[in-house]
Amino acid sequence: MTKNKKYRFETDAILNSAAHQNDSRPVSHPIYLSTTYHRNEDGGYNNDFVYSRHSNPNRQVLEKSLAAMEGCKYGFAFASGMAAASSIFQCLKAGDHVLVADDVYFNIYLLLNDVFKDWNLEYTLVDMTNLEQVESSIKKNTALIWLESPSNPLLKISDISAISSIAKTHDLLLAVDNTWPTPVLQKSVVQGADIVMHSTTKYFGGHSDVLGGCVLVNDEKLAEKLGQIQTLSGAVPSPFDCWLISRGMQTLHLRVMAQSKSAIELALLLESHDKIEKVNYPGLTSHPGHEVASRQMENGFGGMLSVLIKGDKQHAIDVSNRLKLFTVATSLGGVESLVEHRESVEGPDSQTPENLLRISVGLENVQDLIEDWEEALG
Ligand SMILES: *Cc1c(COP(=O)(O)O)cnc(C)c1O
Repeated sequence: MTKNKKYRFETDAILNSAAHQNDSRPVSHPIYLSTTYHRNEDGGYNNDFVYSRHSNPNRQVLEKSLAAMEGCKYGFAFASGMAAASSIFQCLKAGDHVLVADDVYFNIYLLLNDVFKDWNLEYTLVDMTNLEQVESSIKKNTALIWLESPSNPLLKISDISAISSIAKTHDLLLAVDNTWPTPVLQKSVVQGADIVMHSTTKYFGGHSDVLGGCVLVNDEKLAEKLGQIQTLSGAVPSPFDCWLISRGMQTLHLRVMAQSKSAIELALLLESHDKIEKVNYPGLTSHPGHEVASRQMENGFGGMLSVLIKGDKQHAIDVSNRLKLFTVATSLGGVESLVEHRESVEGPDSQTPENLLRISVGLENVQDLIEDWEEALG
């Protein structure tokens, strides 16, 4: 397919995932299970496919499409979001230091604390909403700042462009975990991020049936290193995983827009409910990060929110169990609404309030979702 015209986001999402390489010209991209490819008589290969850990047609389509969506030159797909996160830390050297948000996705904290600390990678937890604290926590050996905005599960908003200026002043890399907003709502590279990471398990896949992750960059040297780590560490997604994520991406824009629209309606209802202590949602004017979020997010504030239920831990868990349309399960970003008592999942080190429930809004009718909450709260 020749593409001379510059299309908009949703159109590109369809075109980039379309079939390219098969002579029989299928409309949907086939799944290439072959692990290895014919070598030509001159020793070369058609299309540069050699061996499936190195590259394969399904992964190539996915990586190009992911990179294009975030406005990056290079894309690397991984078997999970955590594999993608690991590959970024593996780009650093022993003795380097990382600044991470104090409410970073819990498994990334565990990865740094339980795995990379033994490889002499240091980290400091900081409040990313406090720019003075970010700057004063920078050490001689700091190499990377890592943030998520909105954060998980408190929905704190970090000012990406302000933190990017700090990073540039001190010659540090800025990595943004863009899993929650997706590029539909937030273009982190435009805001100044050097590295964008996703768990594609969530909104990109969109149907709670595939694990995946990706890292997207513009810098050629960084891309070279990530490519090495990807093929040599080998945490690559299968062709079928790539195919599922590519398919999910074709409806990413529609889904995220609809989920965002429902989330703000649910957030407003819950904020006015007398059994709710607090709603964390950046779309609410009461949210301390609302102004920054309005500046750095477009099209909406996302399908994720968290609420503090009046009462104790057991009371919050009881409410989650009374919901009928929100499945009690971990993860997020699928077509079905989910709810989770986050503190129980995170375990003894958790800083999450004991009465917090995290909500992933799905694609059900929003009025049904609202009524479900009204009934569960009683
Ligand atoms: C789920 C998630 C991850 C980890 O991704 P996996 O695909 O589960 O490995 C990382 N960051 C955020 C913000 C997530 O929600």
